[in-house]
Amino acid sequence: MFVDLTKIKVKAGDGGNGAVTFHREKFVAAGGPDGGDGGKGGDIIFKTDTNLSTLLDFKYKKKFVAKNGQDGQNKRCSGKSAEPLIIKVPKGTLIKNAATGKIMADMSGDEPVVIAKGGKGGWGNNHFATPTRQIPRFAKPGLQGEEFDLILELKLLADVGLAGFPNVGKSTLISVVSAAKPKIANYHFTTLTPVLGVVDAGEGKSFVMADIPGLIEGASQGAGLGHEFLRHVERCRLIVHVVDVSGIEGRDPKEDFDKINLELKNFNEELSQRPQIVAANKCDMATEEQIAEFKKYVEDMGYEFFPISAATTEGVKPLINRISTMLDTLPPIKEYEPEPPAFDDFADKANKDFTIRVEDDVYIVEADWLVPVLGMVDPNDYESLQYMQRILIDNGVIKRLEEMGINEGDTVSILNFEFDYIK
Ligand code: GDP
Ligand code: MG
Repeated sequence: MFVDLTKIKVKAGDGGNGAVTFHREKFVAAGGPDGGDGGKGGDIIFKTDTNLSTLLDFKYKKKFVAKNGQDGQNKRCSGKSAEPLIIKVPKGTLIKNAATGKIMADMSGDEPVVIAKGGKGGWGNNHFATPTRQIPRFAKPGLQGEEFDLILELKLLADVGLAGFPNVGKSTLISVVSAAKPKIANYHFTTLTPVLGVVDAGEGKSFVMADIPGLIEGASQGAGLGHEFLRHVERCRLIVHVVDVSGIEGRDPKEDFDKINLELKNFNEELSQRPQIVAANKCDMATEEQIAEFKKYVEDMGYEFFPISAATTEGVKPLINRISTMLDTLPPIKEYEPEPPAFDDFADKANKDFTIRVEDDVYIVEADWLVPVLGMVDPNDYESLQYMQRILIDNGVIKRLEEMGINEGDTVSILNFEFDYIK
């Protein structure tokens, strides 16, 4: 089965907690704090695997959780950091944040990408001894690992996409120009999965062709088969529009041609601008007049026209040569840029509960919804810090601190931030 769209959950590991321990030795009374730091939680890392060609694995396994970091130990021993969890996907997989719809990564290259960062380990109490606070009985908890609902969408990487109605001969064409062996049969919808083939264009040149399952009318509205496969045309540098010029199935090639182009346009306006050439197939069954009439029709619209017979391979070579020379001048396969998250993505989270407790004169603020927000705050950037302050004011955190009797100069601790309170 071919799966090219799926939703999964990933959760990076939480950081280990810092330890609260005190140095113990025979004959030494109260030793100083020696609690070690927690280890870092495991990242969630995506990597491409060229052996994979579908997202099928994710139909059955939908939740991926990386291990937590170990808690800190006594004697200033840090807890062990957890290994990353590596998730393998086929080349061409787009990773989107399901909550915002934004692209997090386009897995087209070979570089692994960290999608969810493991939480940092909390500091052990040995960090918190100060001249006035010699016996810190607290340590920092580990930070939560990032957690996302993700949409995985496979968009095949091919130079050329074959588009056209079912039964026009797309699978036959790819099978005579490459080693790909898709099912060929005289009934509609035989091709249920896109098939990639490497075409040898001579002179050491080659390109990748994709046989995209037949589009049917209404495909861009999701009617029947076709719509879900249109995404595989999106990266293609060139569309080869295959049409049955013989009308052997009682179809009108001109009408077919317009309908497919309309479907492409309705799916994605950009596709109507994509370079396209026309392969008029089944010429062995067509009359001279049929071919000439259709040739005039598409050439008048500005498309290049190639009469072929995939079955006898007549005219196929000139078509392949032309594709190859066109590709020399066309831009590379489309890659999608990651869309950085914005603060606003988190602005309207429903539940904004938080708790504040006081330990050793430190005001410790805890709130799950703050994790992604503060994860984006850069402590070295003034604007970023101002934004954080705004969030704390708007959501009543500052007010609550004041109600609790916080004084100028007291320490406030929020996740990985620690700052002095200033009125
Ligand atoms: P697809 O649905 O577009 O992939 O079409 P197929 O490649 O499966 O072909 C559909 C039918 O048309 C099959 O029976 C093929 O043998 C036939 N066919 C494909 N190309 C030609 C051709 O050039 N000439 C003739 N006469 N039949 C063809
Ligand atoms: Mg087919």
